[in-house]
Amino acid sequence: MPVTKTMPAIIIRDVVVVPGMTVNFSVIKKEAAKACEEAMHAEQLVFVAYQREGVKLLNKDVLYPIGMIAAIKQINKLPDRTMQLVLDVKSRAKMVDVLDDSFTQFKVKEIVENGDDLDRFEKEACLRNLRELYLEYSLLNPKVPKVFDVLPRTVDDLDTVMNRVVNHAILPYEVKIGIIQIIDVKERFEKLLKVLTDEVEVSRIRANILKNTQDKVTKNQREYFLREQLNSIKKELGEDAVSEEAQFMEELEKLEASDEVKEKIKKEINRLSSLNSAGSEASVERGYIETLLELPWDKMSEDNTDVKHAAEVLDRDHYGLEKVKERILEFLSVRALNSRGDSPIICLVGPPGTGKTSIARSIADALGKKYVRLSLGGVRDEAEIRGHRRTYVGAMPGNIVAGLKQAGVKNPLMLLDEIDKTSADHKGDVASALLEVLDSEQNSKFRDHFVGIPIDLSEVLFIATANSASDIPGPLYDRMEIIEVSSYTANEKFHIAKEFLLKKQYEKNGLKTSQISINDAALKRIIEAYTKEAGVRELERKIGEICRKAAREILEKGTKKVTVTTKNLETFLGKEKYRADLKNKKDEVGIVRGLAWTPVGGTTLSVEVNIMPGKGEMELTGQMGDVMKESALAGLSFIRSIAPKYKIAQTFFEQHDIHIHIPEGAVPKDGPSAGITMATAVMSAITGIPVSRNLAMTGEITLRGRVLAVGGLKEKILAAKTAGIKKVLVPLENKADIEEISDEIKEGMDLIYVSSMKEVLEIALW
Ligand code: ADP
Repeated sequence: MPVTKTMPAIIIRDVVVVPGMTVNFSVIKKEAAKACEEAMHAEQLVFVAYQREGVKLLNKDVLYPIGMIAAIKQINKLPDRTMQLVLDVKSRAKMVDVLDDSFTQFKVKEIVENGDDLDRFEKEACLRNLRELYLEYSLLNPKVPKVFDVLPRTVDDLDTVMNRVVNHAILPYEVKIGIIQIIDVKERFEKLLKVLTDEVEVSRIRANILKNTQDKVTKNQREYFLREQLNSIKKELGEDAVSEEAQFMEELEKLEASDEVKEKIKKEINRLSSLNSAGSEASVERGYIETLLELPWDKMSEDNTDVKHAAEVLDRDHYGLEKVKERILEFLSVRALNSRGDSPIICLVGPPGTGKTSIARSIADALGKKYVRLSLGGVRDEAEIRGHRRTYVGAMPGNIVAGLKQAGVKNPLMLLDEIDKTSADHKGDVASALLEVLDSEQNSKFRDHFVGIPIDLSEVLFIATANSASDIPGPLYDRMEIIEVSSYTANEKFHIAKEFLLKKQYEKNGLKTSQISINDAALKRIIEAYTKEAGVRELERKIGEICRKAAREILEKGTKKVTVTTKNLETFLGKEKYRADLKNKKDEVGIVRGLAWTPVGGTTLSVEVNIMPGKGEMELTGQMGDVMKESALAGLSFIRSIAPKYKIAQTFFEQHDIHIHIPEGAVPKDGPSAGITMATAVMSAITGIPVSRNLAMTGEITLRGRVLAVGGLKEKILAAKTAGIKKVLVPLENKADIEEISDEIKEGMDLIYVSSMKEVLEIALW
């Protein structure tokens, strides 16, 4: 019969004691120490109760119902009033009641263990299972004691065995307590088995993870040896190993190439088989063979030579550009009639964003050709065109071969983008490599250093682009047929945006026309106030920006349709960025408006001249290059030569200094075209006659006052028009160019041809 007893109690946390253990305890609480001391004089027993983890406040509910009865073996009183106990844990007991507020006296009921309820076989089976499991557990966890230390064969009581396992296994406090709280022996055994099995599984997985990471390092090496072994076994058995070489050979069979090329590749494959396949030489060789097998030696796509179709595609993709389209169609017609003819290379020259790349893409589309673009901007090493020799570590084929590989056929359209931007320092070499690429005499046997075998480029249709024709290296320029793509007027930009860019950007941003609209006035404002460019790239970017913001609004705010007008444009694009450089407020002495061409479009520039007493010196400041200075000197010489006519004393020049300044905007290279502007400004300053604010001019000047032709007239006239200047003096020599300019640009403009400085002065100073 289980007995109910009153006994002194101590409460513990974090440690689990089980019957059979001898343990040391410190008792801090004064009352508890006193109770233990009293017990020492009686039965010498104490109840050990377990408190739940993490709770501070002591009450009955935070104690586990089952604790341990222990015999006090020894008591040591320490000077600080605490007490040191040595306990022999005897058996389990159930807490019945707490008898005092300080938790020192408990009523407890002994538990009679029911291990003997199991029959002999059942007990033996449980014991064996537990032993085996503990063995496995201890092998996976080197930190726990060995099985023969914990569970020697001599111990055959299931309760004792379980208590020992609970004591030694590394388990969380709650889990251990959970086990000892189960009264029935069988149930407790099952719980312990489950906990231990889970532990073994976790330990096994952990061990595996560790092993896998270590294995990976050696795996590659092992695989290599295994493959070698496999090959030699297969050889011995007389079977053919499917080696790398065999695979290459198979690909070679399928390759469309001349016998000569195939023979050469075969040799390389044989060479590979003689090399140590793990060595670096073999890896270079492997890369080489792969490149050779990927090249389109004889593979061609079929061209569409229908010029009418080409015209449709060009019109479908581009607004305006009539002249450009016409020239391209002529070129394509000649090609269609005479495919083997020595046709020149087309080079589209014009400011960025004017559709050069996109025209080239359309041509490829129209002809049914594959399209590859090689960006030559910044290329300064010949090797980038022609490849590295294979002796270099990390050697690679050049751009041209890479482009062919990408195209997969030997007759693609290859766009050589920004051919004028090959870097200047090694330009000679890069240009000569390009020349070999483009020259139809040589390019059927183009040699890439990496590939080594001559490659036929004669079927490739090359088209080049450049921003400025004068920067194209001379020999290349001679091989090219230049087609100029000039900047767009605001009106053209508007149409391009309306008919092409909007659609493109809507699609790109996943917007339907029912969800967004940008009205005409807003488009025009974007062109005027948010972009300053010759092409439409920035404009397209701005439209893209609006689309992204609109998409967000539709998603976040559930707006059905976003409408962009001039009123709300600022919320999409921020403050306006540009204001057109307008004409001067009033007519001034010594200030003349010139016109300049820049790669991003035309611009006006103010030439300012001051005359002051001095020693006949001339000073030039501002944005000036050498050419401009020479041009200024020529202008001044001319003025001195005509001084008597304007009643200027010769001594004037000896007693005055002349200061010419160009505030901003001009590009030095464009120097000479400011010749007549500077001379006019000087003359105005000397004579004190103001120059009309409604006049702009461009033209080069000779020593004898002749006005010479200049370039970029379309852009310059556009710039004048934007600034609101109606009257423009242009060189008579440029008459033919002016006639080519569309009426849309010339409309409302008073263009006056001049051939001599005399005429210029007559119009400007009156
Ligand atoms: P580039 O090569 O001259 O620097 P891109 O061909 O990259 O210019 O053109 C920039 C963008 O403007 C492209 O999206 C292009 O389709 C578009 N674009 C330029 N000109 C036109 C045009 N005339 N019609 C339609 N879209 C154009």
